[in-house]
Amino acid sequence: MTESTFQLENTYCNLPGVFFSKLSPTPVSSPEILLFNQKLAEEIGLDLSVLSEEERTQLLSGNLVPEGIEYFAQAYAGHQFGNFTMLGDGRALMLGEHLAPSGQRLDLQFKGSGRTPYSRGGDGRAALGPMLREYLISEAMHALGIPTTRSLAVVATGESVYRESELPGAILTRTAGSHIRVGTFEFASLHEDKAITQALLNYLIDRHFPEIREEENKALSVLQAVIDQQIDLITHWMRVGFIHGVMNTDNMALSGETIDYGPCAFMDIFSPDTVFSSIDHKGRYAYANQPYIAQWNLARLAESLLPLMDGERENAIEMAEDALNAFEDIYKNKWLSMMGSKLGLHRVDQKDEALVTELLDWMHQQKADYTNTFRDLSKPELPSESAYTTESFQAWHTRWQDRLGKEVQDWDSSVTLMDSVNPAVIPRNHKVEEALQAGEEGDLSPFHNLLKALANP
Ligand code: AMP
Ligand code: MG
Repeated sequence: MTESTFQLENTYCNLPGVFFSKLSPTPVSSPEILLFNQKLAEEIGLDLSVLSEEERTQLLSGNLVPEGIEYFAQAYAGHQFGNFTMLGDGRALMLGEHLAPSGQRLDLQFKGSGRTPYSRGGDGRAALGPMLREYLISEAMHALGIPTTRSLAVVATGESVYRESELPGAILTRTAGSHIRVGTFEFASLHEDKAITQALLNYLIDRHFPEIREEENKALSVLQAVIDQQIDLITHWMRVGFIHGVMNTDNMALSGETIDYGPCAFMDIFSPDTVFSSIDHKGRYAYANQPYIAQWNLARLAESLLPLMDGERENAIEMAEDALNAFEDIYKNKWLSMMGSKLGLHRVDQKDEALVTELLDWMHQQKADYTNTFRDLSKPELPSESAYTTESFQAWHTRWQDRLGKEVQDWDSSVTLMDSVNPAVIPRNHKVEEALQAGEEGDLSPFHNLLKALANP
């Protein structure tokens, strides 16, 4: 395969050498393409149809690196559950950047393609189950209108990986606006030379915040822009009941996309302290904690940027603190307006907060399903479930109806608003597990059925 059939750039490699290591994937014995996202390929103008099935398999398994293209692993650091660690792509590899017809520059990345200089003790590989999971959930998130990395393909390697047990191995190919993380800035700032962080900042601005190019204090402007961007993202998560599960700083992407689907899940019964990760004993990454953790992570970004904000450290700290302190109000307003839209309110003000929190408290007490409750509210008639006949719910419902009566728009337009933000279909855990298990046993039909249902939430 020549370069002309597959064109990728690697502008990332113009950064100082500390940020990456060039290397090739470790070949696998008998690759087989299990999933290929043709729709995504078309959307981003990635035409692999010129390749034979065999060539495509070799390409997406990492066995064949197109002529003239150099793959690379990215260096980064990060706070994992609050503790600082040196990390990097230990089992991922960047193929390069693909230019979509829209003009967007997209990273193409393998996950599970073998060891890299950043693998530490790991084998550099991925098991099929988790890669199917990332494919399914990331595509579901996209359909829910939430910024996310996307999944292009899953290839079975024909080799086993060893975790608690022996599992089938796989390689995921994903696309992303970029893979620059809060942890990439943490890594940059470890170097004495502040030109290293400056280079990364300039690159980030070119790629994601071109409007900041002319700003006087670029580092501060970027911090403020990333704060807004992450608030938007977390507000989406809260809207659909998504729990990321591992909000370490290395899993916070400055493209504003949801990245790295590990022990993530959607909440069924509404409970603010819901956690799915088996290692998150203290509930650090619980549903209701996500905005606080986002703010904590952004403080780590701010620390990395301090030397670029002002020559006087005191001044820089003050600027960063002001920016970070604004988080709470911005988030609160965005959250309230989002929750208001879930209740059919086009315009929300502070007085509406009680209406929202009272419903959430009621749902918590009643162990009501988060997704279904909001869908029920927009139905012409509430289902005859006993929870809705309770006095407490009826009282809330009357207050809600009174409030809706004060809207300028009519009920129909409230219903349209509600149905546009309240999904009817989410990737419920038991369905996901069923589909993954069947997939691991060689039957992908439940996976395809679920994927199809999730495409129209
Ligand atoms: P993740 O939990 O996927 O966000 O990964 C956290 C860090 O651990 C990243 O630096 C990964 O590259 C690394 N890592 C995870 N699994 C492996 C593995 N099997 N081999 C090498 N590195 C890994
Ligand atoms: Mg990660």
